[in-house]
Amino acid sequence: MRSTRKFLLSAGRCLLLFLSVVATGILSLPSPCLAAPSGLHVVATTFPIYLLTSAVAQGRPGVRVDLLIPAQAGCPHDYALTTGDMKKLSAASVIVANGLGMEDFMDKALRAMDRHIPLIDSSVGIQPLAAQEDGHDHAHGEGHHHDHGEQCNHSHGAVNPHAFSSPRQAAWIVRHIARSLGELDPQGAEEYARAAEAYALRLEAIGHRLAALGAGAANKKVVLLHDTAAYLFRDAGLHVIAAIQENEHVQPSAARILELTRRLRQDKPAVIVSEPQYSDKAVRALSAETGVPVLQLDPVASGPADADPGYYEQVMLKNCEALEKYFGK
Ligand SMILES: [Zn+2]
Repeated sequence: MRSTRKFLLSAGRCLLLFLSVVATGILSLPSPCLAAPSGLHVVATTFPIYLLTSAVAQGRPGVRVDLLIPAQAGCPHDYALTTGDMKKLSAASVIVANGLGMEDFMDKALRAMDRHIPLIDSSVGIQPLAAQEDGHDHAHGEGHHHDHGEQCNHSHGAVNPHAFSSPRQAAWIVRHIARSLGELDPQGAEEYARAAEAYALRLEAIGHRLAALGAGAANKKVVLLHDTAAYLFRDAGLHVIAAIQENEHVQPSAARILELTRRLRQDKPAVIVSEPQYSDKAVRALSAETGVPVLQLDPVASGPADADPGYYEQVMLKNCEALEKYFGK
């Protein structure tokens, strides 16, 4: 129980952006009674975090990892918890969350729960990117600084929650999850660390390949369908000059497409990035108007329900190869 308390305290200190109210609640109440250490029941909130958690825990006997939001649902930006979800949450001995505001939808539910469940915020320590703002074309990607400070009167508070789209950040996430699980289940700590380290090194190898792309590219400008893949492009040293949609669930207006058409003709980006899970109608329309080619990438926000833990790495390798084909000349 002592290590659990220690974990909760350190986790509570780190939960800066995420569920601060809940974290306070956890701290002020007695430690939860966990199942036997080897019987951890982990509930991961979103598909990519589920995959990364599974990769860490798969070698540890007796650990069960479940996914909260259905694999095909994508990001829960406007998600409402179902009764089934509540049951899943209340059965968990630990929750692993994306963080960066992605889980605002379950903030209230966790507070209302009669038992306080340890929560691992997988985004702890990540350098967040600012969120894309609707109707504005400011690119907030690292390495692309333009001078808009004075004229800009909208808020810059929101962060882009899709850190998982970067293999380099995913490596960081995997190590953080392993350390946190190890604190809850000290007997498994070594196993978690070993699995995490092997996986993180492979993810970082993809990150290194991506990092080589921007350096050699004549045209570093890209346009995204949504800002989901922004972290991947930060890794690659390529500059996201615009995202067509504010998020996955909001279609662009005709005025927005017109504005983007003008912008693309002027700035001549190298590619427009589409995602296999979403309609490429807007992307195709922009491409036809401007002659900028389309490249399809999968940021792994969603995927098949039966995906194995290696799915994330497989898809990121494919993304990397597709980008190398395009930018690696
Ligand atoms: Zn999203």
